[in-house]
Amino acid sequence: MQTYHNTVSGKQTEAKEHQEIFNPATAVSLGMAPLNSEHDVDLAVEAAKHAQKSWASVSDQERRETVARIAQVLEDNSAYLSGLITQEQGKPLSGPGSRFEMQACVGWTQVPSKLELPPEIVYEDDERKDVLYRQPQGVVAAIAPWNWPLMIAIWQIIPAIRMGNTVVLKPSEYTPIATLEMVRLINQVLPAGVLNTVSGDGRIGAALTSHPDINKIMFTGSEATGRRIIVASSKNLAPITLELGGNDAAILMPGTDASAVAEGLFWGAFLNAGQTCACIKRLYVHEDDYDVVVAALGNVARQTPVGDGMDEGNLMGPLQNKMQYQKVKELVDDARGNGCDIMEFGDIPSTGYFLPITLVGNIRDGQRLVDEEQFGPALPIIRYQTLDDAVASANHLSAALGASVWANSAEEAESTALQLEAGTVWINQHGAIHPMVPFGGNKASGYGVEFGIEGLKAVTQPRIISIKK
Ligand code: NAD
Repeated sequence: MQTYHNTVSGKQTEAKEHQEIFNPATAVSLGMAPLNSEHDVDLAVEAAKHAQKSWASVSDQERRETVARIAQVLEDNSAYLSGLITQEQGKPLSGPGSRFEMQACVGWTQVPSKLELPPEIVYEDDERKDVLYRQPQGVVAAIAPWNWPLMIAIWQIIPAIRMGNTVVLKPSEYTPIATLEMVRLINQVLPAGVLNTVSGDGRIGAALTSHPDINKIMFTGSEATGRRIIVASSKNLAPITLELGGNDAAILMPGTDASAVAEGLFWGAFLNAGQTCACIKRLYVHEDDYDVVVAALGNVARQTPVGDGMDEGNLMGPLQNKMQYQKVKELVDDARGNGCDIMEFGDIPSTGYFLPITLVGNIRDGQRLVDEEQFGPALPIIRYQTLDDAVASANHLSAALGASVWANSAEEAESTALQLEAGTVWINQHGAIHPMVPFGGNKASGYGVEFGIEGLKAVTQPRIISIKK
């Protein structure tokens, strides 16, 4: 059985303990991943701290070229890494699956390699000149979730490295292997200590985020963990970029042509079997359009094969882990128990954490499947009478990551879009992120943004040089 390793100071390390990782579609063992101790966290942070000053003193041009080389490594190894993602995380190779995740990793690495943050004159008159320089923050702790394990790790580590920080990354304990392999490969083109890993569960995440030598925390995961990390950061006063859960609403404007938007709505909701932070998790449809919309979504669902993602024909995989599988099942059972219409589509394999594609009708705000983040392949479809009601419903939760408005024309959707409380409101698309466009949550979905120039700023420390003339 293969054992996978952390990388610290450019070297593969041995851990005292390990856990076995299984394919969520087939229950086949994939190998052993390290389980670290708090002492291992100290060693990884020490390695990152040791490397940071010399990495920060490398020229900006050289760092840009190094990041471009990382993009090439990701591209060269994308077949290997997408195979690992599918076997470990479950999303299929095909469609918007693991190959798509690897393309995103390449894109989100190429873009920062081309971006610059030059010094900026923020004030000047006859007597003084004030220049803002962007300095690296130091050692960045990056904590990743299990749904898009490589893509989200890349979002965290690439801007940090680009701006002269060094990183200790902790992958999710559910999906460590593909990430550890990606970091091993990236290290081929990085100086030792710039990118390190530790592995384990929340205990190791807590040791890392509360470590006195951490200068910045990048966290993507649940709201509950985000709140713990804020407390942990009182030990080091590290600023945090918090990308937390979402419960995105989509509003379909009255009279929208259902056949034109059904496919976009479907994948907006069922991308990665719904295990995506900015997925449609509640769909609000005018009562007059309800039947035709449900039928149109059912048609797309019927044409979506669910199964082992290593089979090129499948477009949807399993839930990634038993905890998530049980949670989604429980929410659907709750809706069933409350008399909702449960519409299940497709044949699912008998092994693995598979659930059918599920549309849930005759459901209202206040029911668990609507108000709680399901993070799985079950979409509640809620009838509304007036647009004002739909907007009030969309805004009634504390989660506010994304939202979308769907209409026959973008103009028709605009004023409704402006009323929605979310970090991003999409029109006639959902979850359409881009490496140049800032992305982050409002309200309980977190704070700070990633991507583009704003994302680079978030991993720097402003330093003002103030000159008397
Ligand atoms: P999670 O919070 O359970 O775990 C995320 C990571 O935090 C894991 O690596 C875990 O080991 C670590 N962790 C757990 N306890 C910790 C602690 N006390 N200190 C430090 N680290 C700790 O989340 P998850 O179940 O892996 O991910 C699913 C959640 O993430 C969903 O709510 C989803 O919406 C959200 N998410 C958000 C975004 C976004 O960009 N906003 C993206 C993807 C996922």
